[in-house]
Amino acid sequence: MEKDLSSSFRKAAEAIKDARTMIITAGAGMGVDSGLPDYRGEKGFWRSYPMYMPLGINYYDAANPVHFGSDPAFGWGFYSHRIDLYRETKPHQGFRLLQEWIDRYRMDYFVVTSNVDGQFQKAGFPEDRLYEVHGSIHYLQCTIPCSSDIWENNEHAPVDLSTMRAQEVLRCPRCGAVSRPNVLMFGDFSWIAERSQEQQKNYRLFLKKCHYPMVVVEMGAGTAISTIRNMSETLGRNHDAVVIRINPRDYHISQPHVSVPCSALEGLQGIQEELQKYG
Ligand SMILES: [Zn+2]
Repeated sequence: MEKDLSSSFRKAAEAIKDARTMIITAGAGMGVDSGLPDYRGEKGFWRSYPMYMPLGINYYDAANPVHFGSDPAFGWGFYSHRIDLYRETKPHQGFRLLQEWIDRYRMDYFVVTSNVDGQFQKAGFPEDRLYEVHGSIHYLQCTIPCSSDIWENNEHAPVDLSTMRAQEVLRCPRCGAVSRPNVLMFGDFSWIAERSQEQQKNYRLFLKKCHYPMVVVEMGAGTAISTIRNMSETLGRNHDAVVIRINPRDYHISQPHVSVPCSALEGLQGIQEELQKYG
């Protein structure tokens, strides 16, 4: 394993130093090294949210938009808790390494993520270089919705951790109905996708104008929801990009792409060590 990793790091470093464009693609595993919970499997979810276990509620149940209609304080409980968590989280050092490479090799870049946690913005990546395919938890919309408005969430709704109920329900400033985070939930038919679509437009324009060769650095993108993996692979096919897949479990990808079987931070640090050898 040790030997495998060092040759992966070396191949990844070679692709990065020669690239003129870097596309960063990230899934849930990207946040684990910052200390964010891993929702994988019921056990993973209940380890982070033990209060849901006696209620028999798993991640899919908790992250369902139905609660905002039937029991808003309960719906807001889960999301407000996560908003607080993401607000408090400090992005790990891997984000800084990516920025360092972009500067050092003068690369064009764009970030595509299925994460709704806002950690790339927090790490200093500009809004116009981001495509959040499932939206952002830091933005809200109306549950009805009475309009297609999406607004930044500057409020705080405290949560009673023993019941996971919010002590306050945030509301739509336009009509007074319950509001909700502007993220794509499970079985969600009322998500307003406009903000995300605007980002997608920027991303497509970027792809039309970017320079080659291209490298894709994919981190923590699982197979359960394969949106991000598919996007990386499409870039590999259509843009002749080398895809570097960093993932401790689902790391398989065939050559000429590079499989890096470890966590996001460990992978980025290993690649950094190789890059430093080039001076
Ligand atoms: Zn409304």
